[in-house]
Amino acid sequence: MLGNVALVILMLLLLQLLVAAAWAMAVPTLRLSRLASRHWSLSAVCGARAAALMLTRGSAPDWLAVSGANAVSVLAVLAMRRGVLIFLRSPAWDGESILVVAFVLLGNLACEWLPPPHCPSVQVMISCAAMAWVLLRMCMQAYPTLRSEFGERTAFLLIAPQVAAVAMFTLRALAGLVPASAGLQPLPADTPLNLASVLLLLMLTLVQHASLAGMALQRLVRKLRHLSQRDPLTGLFNRAEWTRQLEAQHRWLGRFGEPFGVLMIDIDHFKKINDTQGHAAGDAVLLTTAQVLTASARDVDVIGRLGGEEFGVLLPRADQITVRRTAERLRKMLGDAETSWRDQPIRLTVSIGAALCSDADESPAHLLERADHALYQAKNTGRNRTVVARLAT
Ligand code: GH3
Ligand code: MG
Ligand code: MG
Repeated sequence: MLGNVALVILMLLLLQLLVAAAWAMAVPTLRLSRLASRHWSLSAVCGARAAALMLTRGSAPDWLAVSGANAVSVLAVLAMRRGVLIFLRSPAWDGESILVVAFVLLGNLACEWLPPPHCPSVQVMISCAAMAWVLLRMCMQAYPTLRSEFGERTAFLLIAPQVAAVAMFTLRALAGLVPASAGLQPLPADTPLNLASVLLLLMLTLVQHASLAGMALQRLVRKLRHLSQRDPLTGLFNRAEWTRQLEAQHRWLGRFGEPFGVLMIDIDHFKKINDTQGHAAGDAVLLTTAQVLTASARDVDVIGRLGGEEFGVLLPRADQITVRRTAERLRKMLGDAETSWRDQPIRLTVSIGAALCSDADESPAHLLERADHALYQAKNTGRNRTVVARLAT
C-alpha cells in the first residue's frame, strides 16, 4: 500500500515521463533548439529515474535508493541548466557540474558512516543544497541574457519558477539545521514536511518546464515575426511592414500634425549589373545599398526594400528642405560607395523621388503616387538625381 508521499512521487514520475516525451517530440515538430530540447528531455528522464529510485527505498540498498536517487536528481537540474545555457548561447563550464555531482555522491556515501538519526537528514541537506546552488547559478547566468532578448517583464516571468525552485530547495536544506525538527527524512517517508515538499516539487516541475516551453515559444514567435517583417536578402523591412510604418506615420500626422517625408530610391541601370556581372553581383550591390542606407539614415528613419532594386525611406518630423537635403545626402553616399566583387569594384548611382506629407487628408497611397511620379521624373531627366514632388494641394 503506497503512502501519500509515495503516491505524489508516482505522479511526479509520470509527469516527468510525459514532459520528457513532449520535449523529444518538440524537436522534429517545432524545430526548437535541438540540443537544448534534448537536455530538457534528459532532465525530465533523470527526474523520473530519481522518482523511481525513491520509490524503491526500503527494499533496495541505501547507496542506490538514497545516494543514487539524490545524485540523479542533481543530474536532472544540471541537464536543465545546461539546456538553458545552450538555448541562450551562454558559455557553460562542465567542470563545475562534475564537481557538484562528485560533491553530492561522495557526501551521500560518506553520510553512511554517520549515526542513524543524522545520516538521512544530512544526505537530504547535501542534495537539496546542491540543487539550489545549480538552479541559482542558472538564474544568475540566464537572467541578463533573457532580459536583453525578451525584455524585462518576460525575462522576469520566465525566471520566476526557477527562483521559486531555488527557494524550495534552500528551505528544504535549511530545515535539516533546525534542531527542533524530528529530523529531515528522505522521501518517501510519510511526514508532513515531505508531503508538502513533493506536492510543491510536482507543481514546480510543471511550472519549470512550462517556463522553458514559454522561452522556446517566445523565440519562435520572434523569429516568425522577424521573417514576416524583413526582406531576407538585406534584412531591411519588407514592403508590407514598411507600408504599415508609413500608415503609422500618417496617423501620427493626423493626431499631432507632424509632417513626414518619404523617399523612393531606385538603382539606375541595375539590370545591366545583373546581365554583365551576374545575379550574385547584383545581390551584392543590393546589400551594399542597404548597408549604406542603414549607416547614413537617422535612427528614427524607417528603411525598407520595396521590391527588386527599389528602396523606401520614411523621414519622420521632416520639412521640404530636410527631405531634399537627406535625399541628396543619401544619393551622394550611395554614389561614393563601392561594392567589391571578385576584386572588381562595382559603382552605382540612384534616382530618388521624394515627397513631403504635411496634410493629413492626403492618403498614404496618394503620397506614394506623388513620390513615384517624382522618381519617374528623375529617371526621365537623366537619372542619378533627386526630384522632390510639389506639396499636395
Ligand atoms: P532603371 O535605371 O530604369 O531603373 O533600370 P533598371 O535596369 O535598374 O530597372 P529594371 O526594372 O529594368 O530592372 C530591374 C532588375 O532588377 C530586373 C530584375 O531582374 C532585377 N532584380 C529584381 N530583384 C532582384 C534581386 O533580388 N537580385 C538581383 N540580383 N536582381 C534583382
Ligand atoms: Mg532601377
Ligand atoms: Mg525599379
